[in-house]
Amino acid sequence: MSQTYVVVAEARGGKLRQVTLEAVQAARSAKREEDRVAAVLIGHAVEPLAAELAGYTDGPVHVVDHPDLELYNPETYATALEAALESLAPSAVFLGHTAIGRDLAPAIAARLGAGQISDVIAIQRDGGGEEASFTRPLYAGKAFETKRFVGDGVRVVTVRPNNFPAAEPAPAPGAVVSVAYSAPSDLRTVVKDVVRKMSGKVDLTEAKIVVSGGRGVKSAEGFKPLEELAETLGAAVGASRGACDAGYCDYALQIGQTGKVVTPEIYIACGISGAIQHLAGMSQSRVIIAINKDPEAPIFKVADYGIVGDLFEVVPLLTAEFRKV
Ligand code: FAD
Repeated sequence: MSQTYVVVAEARGGKLRQVTLEAVQAARSAKREEDRVAAVLIGHAVEPLAAELAGYTDGPVHVVDHPDLELYNPETYATALEAALESLAPSAVFLGHTAIGRDLAPAIAARLGAGQISDVIAIQRDGGGEEASFTRPLYAGKAFETKRFVGDGVRVVTVRPNNFPAAEPAPAPGAVVSVAYSAPSDLRTVVKDVVRKMSGKVDLTEAKIVVSGGRGVKSAEGFKPLEELAETLGAAVGASRGACDAGYCDYALQIGQTGKVVTPEIYIACGISGAIQHLAGMSQSRVIIAINKDPEAPIFKVADYGIVGDLFEVVPLLTAEFRKV
């Protein structure tokens, strides 16, 4: 019997987030041939995005559109999601492993009595096997485990951004279905405003290239050459906790165990020693380039390319060379 895999979409700034299309691709990899991928989109004035999203699903897109849902609130969103899922009767629910996805996934798993596997970076479906298996990092990326669900219950999965290719459009687009929103009766928190601190023009967790600075940049001013390199490459700027603690940049830029996890195609670490807690947030990057004046710095152990030198000389040279391309 055909089952429904539902992707919980995220929109930002009037656009679908890249991780949503990656989650669609992850759901396609996990499902069986006969199953379908549907989606849920929650927000305010998101109907046009629902139509766009329907181009990537073969099942319907259930949209809950209401002024109360303009800003993320765990209670209103979990209630809206539960309503949107009701008639879809999903076998699996896929979310991005983002700030919202990490918050919403356990809430919806508890409401559905579902099992959950978080922060998935790869999915295997061996031949005609009934259940896919899911790989996720452990111990700050030092080990990996592969798990599969047992039993018939609903499965909830969060997928790490930048680990699955974005889905291609579906051959037969799904329908858009509006779902009525009714506010939870026991609303305990109201979000009045959200301040989003950007690391430049590109979203750090979805960036294909990240230029990151550590205590070696020495000051807030010292981030300028990194910002210029990032601007030239269309990259996001990140930082170590050392740089954040020293007040050189905002904590919104922090990458690592207690910061953001990034998996870009290229990670350029400038003046970062490579502490284990920093590696936890970036060691899964496809190519790591380290610039450090200390040849013994541990970052060189994980780097694919290392430049031993002063970042204030090396970074402007790189910027100048990339500008020629
Ligand atoms: P440093 O270790 O001081 O390294 C600076 C580097 O810059 C040195 O290698 C130096 O050789 C180089 N350098 C100096 N000048 C130049 C120059 N001109 N050109 C080139 N290179 C230069 N850290 C994180 O990053 N993220 C986390 O999420 C995180 N979470 C933590 C959680 C816990 C519980 C704990 C205990 C620690 C955590 N840390 C985290 C901190 C971590 O242990 C390190 O202290 C921190 O990562 C060091 O930052 P850094 O590499 O910028 O600084």
